[in-house]
Amino acid sequence: MIGAIVTAAGRGSRAGFGENKLLRPLGGGTVLEKTVAAFEESGLFGEILVTVSAEDETRVRAIFGGHPLVKIVPGGPTRTKSVLNGLRASAADIVLVHDGARPYVTRAILEDCIGSVKKYGSGVAAYPAADTLARAEDGRAAEVLGKDGLYVVQTPQGFYRRELLAAYEKARGDYPDESSVYAEFVSAPRLSLGSPANRKLTYREDFESFRTGNGYDTHRLETGRRLVLGGVEVPYEKGLAGHSDADVVVHALMDALLSGAGLRDIGCYFPDTDPKYKDADSVNLLREVVRIVGERGYKVENASVALLAERPKLAPYIDRMRENLANVLAVPFSDVGISVTTAEKLGFVGREEGMAAYATALLKKTF
Ligand code: MG
Repeated sequence: MIGAIVTAAGRGSRAGFGENKLLRPLGGGTVLEKTVAAFEESGLFGEILVTVSAEDETRVRAIFGGHPLVKIVPGGPTRTKSVLNGLRASAADIVLVHDGARPYVTRAILEDCIGSVKKYGSGVAAYPAADTLARAEDGRAAEVLGKDGLYVVQTPQGFYRRELLAAYEKARGDYPDESSVYAEFVSAPRLSLGSPANRKLTYREDFESFRTGNGYDTHRLETGRRLVLGGVEVPYEKGLAGHSDADVVVHALMDALLSGAGLRDIGCYFPDTDPKYKDADSVNLLREVVRIVGERGYKVENASVALLAERPKLAPYIDRMRENLANVLAVPFSDVGISVTTAEKLGFVGREEGMAAYATALLKKTF
């Protein structure tokens, strides 16, 4: 039987989340679930042991409770001790040890590792270094190793369990990985298929993801109203009608941000039945929307608005609108685009009965 030991007992402190990075969300579950799923879905494994710290044990047990293949193993104070506990708890003949923080491991990598163990007694995922490597001392490249013949070593690292366990029983102190224990007490391990795509999620940036959002708005034109677009008051005989200042540009943009963050539309957050928002400055509402999405971990990357208006000529006001929006979104001026077009006298825009705006925003989720 082939088994897996997935290490999840570390803290992952370099990501700076203040909790185990493996319990951070990724792809509808947690990083750890995605890693375990890669092993499970390969159909190659008869057991998957997950080493966890005492601190995370309750949460991890709740995640995998009742899972037919997963067994929780208490981790030790070091990776080496955690893996030793896993090797003792395992019933497998061949065991693959894998970092819980490498969720992108593929079936091809797992198969190659297992094949290597069967043929050579060991298989350590690695790929040729693309960059020059150096050993640093006091901020200096004390020894430039080059890249020829150098490999980046990853996991999975596969072995016959009894052989690796015997090596681990002899090991004292903490080793960086299984290959180093095997190399010291058995022999030089065989390299198997690795890939840069099988990366280890380490830093906060590794957990970023992007979302787009779309928004649309339209307002009627009426005489006796101010025309406010993108927070800029444009002198004109008519203005847009609405409960607030009816800033169609900002309204479309707010819906793009809320929608991108998976939230309800501005009607839910700023109902036009609420007297609080009578003649409200929409730029202030946008500020509130930026705060709401920011609370959920979203930062605006860029925004783009297409405004449909037959008249007046708006070109002279565009850059001021962009400046207003860039300020509130906390992005550079160049990351806010506004295009204006007429409707060629077609439809309600062409008849100058109203204006419309479409907005798109890109959001980066950082935690
Ligand atoms: Mg509106």
